Amino acid sequence: MTTLKPLLAKNRSWALQRRQRNPHYFQQNVHSQQPHSLWIGCSDSRVPAEVLTGAHPGELFVHRNIANMVVAGDDNFMSVLQYALEYLKVSRIVLCGHYGCGGVQAAVALPDLPLYGENSPLARRITQLREALAPGLAKADRIGDEKERLNQLVEANVLAQFSHLIAAEPVLNIWRAGAELDVFGCVYDLQSGHLKELIQQSAEETSP
Ligand SMILES: [Zn+2]
Repeated sequence: MTTLKPLLAKNRSWALQRRQRNPHYFQQNVHSQQPHSLWIGCSDSRVPAEVLTGAHPGELFVHRNIANMVVAGDDNFMSVLQYALEYLKVSRIVLCGHYGCGGVQAAVALPDLPLYGENSPLARRITQLREALAPGLAKADRIGDEKERLNQLVEANVLAQFSHLIAAEPVLNIWRAGAELDVFGCVYDLQSGHLKELIQQSAEETSP
């Protein structure tokens, strides 16, 4: 049997340390939040948004799911996006993927997995991810080194989800209203702990 005790003990010691450093640490966030950024990342336990950016409570509005997917038909994701932009008025969105992503690996290997053909939420998401990665999969087939191939696909996934994000209604509404909003696509390296920018956009794409 497991208990909450270790987590509660760490929580109390964290809260105490914070108050010792700054007696107003918790008070400043009690009545409202004004996060500067919306973070869209993978649920992977090794990619904790606040920890790797050194952010404090109140700085990041966070949505995480398997393989940092942006799906227009996903009310959970879309409500977070709408709330962050329309109500919290964040001026920055960070979409963050990471090397070694199990979701991307599962999407690549899907036809060989027991998950394939299963009717479950997980199987549906991984199937959707594989579809989003289809163009990247064709290109990556030419890469011999397996690790390099998966790294390429992780980056291709960030770019694919980024293209969904900048076409999402709440994002377009902000840009069309002339408000400031910068959208970034990044990848996190588990080995170095470094975040790398892959792509950025600050206005609606105009067709050439
Ligand atoms: Zn992941």
